[in-house]
Amino acid sequence: MTTTPALHSTAQEGNEFLPGPVLLLGAPGVGKGTQAQLLVTKYGIPQISTGDLLRGNIARGTELGLKAKEIMSSGHLVDDEIVNQMVLYRLQEQDTHRGYILDGYPRTLDQAKFLDRTITDPIFLPRLPVIAISIVVSYDQLLQRITGRRTCPTCKHIYNIYSNPPKVVDVCDFDGAALTQRSDDTEPVFVERMKTFDAQTAPVVAHYRDQGRFAEADGNLSMEAVSTAIQQALVDLRRASDLRRASR
Ligand code: AMP
Repeated sequence: MTTTPALHSTAQEGNEFLPGPVLLLGAPGVGKGTQAQLLVTKYGIPQISTGDLLRGNIARGTELGLKAKEIMSSGHLVDDEIVNQMVLYRLQEQDTHRGYILDGYPRTLDQAKFLDRTITDPIFLPRLPVIAISIVVSYDQLLQRITGRRTCPTCKHIYNIYSNPPKVVDVCDFDGAALTQRSDDTEPVFVERMKTFDAQTAPVVAHYRDQGRFAEADGNLSMEAVSTAIQQALVDLRRASDLRRASR
């Protein structure tokens, strides 16, 4: 029996649907970051990207950043304990209370189990289990997306030299800044990251699939079509999750 039913059902405000804690899964380059941003705009809940949090630590030269830097540039995963603690702190911030979009976490089964355990503690709002969406894109398409990706360091706009190039090579259309390439967006590192993804993240997919908290979205479609599919899947998954919990 639940004691606080309002907090144990869909994180809804008025008639507005809120998806609660959401996990976006997918290989490097499937568009998790882009799709997360669209959900942030739609629902007004924050995106939590462990890759961004780690890169922030590297940029600030923190002890954690120093530890993570070499591992990240090799395409391997940073220790579970480091990322788990980072997420634990982040989830205590007030802006997560209406829900959040996890991007790139959990990436291992141990991280998934840690997250499931952690958010059952009543201090974490909303009191709902994570629902997971996996974005699926073909290997060749991913390779082009990754090795062609360039980012504006100033306005953060993302380009692709194959599919969405800037007007002038390597220069941001909006502010003229020189575009940068992430050091792990090269082909050898991509191959390593794909191996890591297949080995470590497949059990995470199985974990959420087995519990009926999982859906797949075809990431080869347009950005808008992928977003629409994800939003529909979130409504369906959250409804199914609420029904299961109510019938217990
Ligand atoms: P991303 O920006 O999500 O592609 O992550 C870039 C790199 O950061 C990965 O290749 C890993 O080295 C590291 N990283 C990000 N998230 C995690 C995580 N949940 N667990 C372990 N390592 C991570």
